[in-house]
Amino acid sequence: MSDEFFYPNVWGLSILLALEEILGKNGVSAALNLAGLTHYVNNYPPDNIKKEFPFEAVSKLQQALWDMNGSRGAQVLAVRSGESTFTYSLEKFGKVQQAAAAAMKVGTKHMRIKAGLLFFAKFFNAVSDQQVRVDEDDTHWLWVIERCPMCWQRTTDEPVCLLGVGVLNAATKWATSGDQFRIKAVQCIGMGAEEGIIKIEKPSG
Ligand SMILES: [Zn+2]
Repeated sequence: MSDEFFYPNVWGLSILLALEEILGKNGVSAALNLAGLTHYVNNYPPDNIKKEFPFEAVSKLQQALWDMNGSRGAQVLAVRSGESTFTYSLEKFGKVQQAAAAAMKVGTKHMRIKAGLLFFAKFFNAVSDQQVRVDEDDTHWLWVIERCPMCWQRTTDEPVCLLGVGVLNAATKWATSGDQFRIKAVQCIGMGAEEGIIKIEKPSG
């Protein structure tokens, strides 16, 4: 087990609970066993914000889901669990929701979304060992993952950081009271890239 980098326990927990809703408890146990994470079977991380859920557990679990469900199925699972992780952690990190809303009380829709992304990047960097930053070009915002648990020590031929896509789906929807955005993982450290990149298409107007 890598003991260098961690997610907060509550993120590990909410990923597993989200998977349970889709796969059932047995399905999650099977994935954990396949991933070599037997110590989490019927023993999910506690519901707290301590940084104790290792990056290695995140990536091994994702890998196991890939092996069991194929790339398409695993992508759906990853996106779903990312969405619930975002929703669950907003509740968990109490004041975050208000602080995020306050940060987004600025100007145009584009400015609000950018402010929201910057806020969440800062928040994620503070509560986990994942490192992200926000860039943009004319048509997209870029969620740039400098240190990534999803493809941690994996070698892949496609972007696998779909948990992040799920988180951003939920975050942008929340930030805009329900708008849908085109969000796509385009580059992944697991593919040999220097950084992971998830693109969020800017809405017109
Ligand atoms: Zn990655």
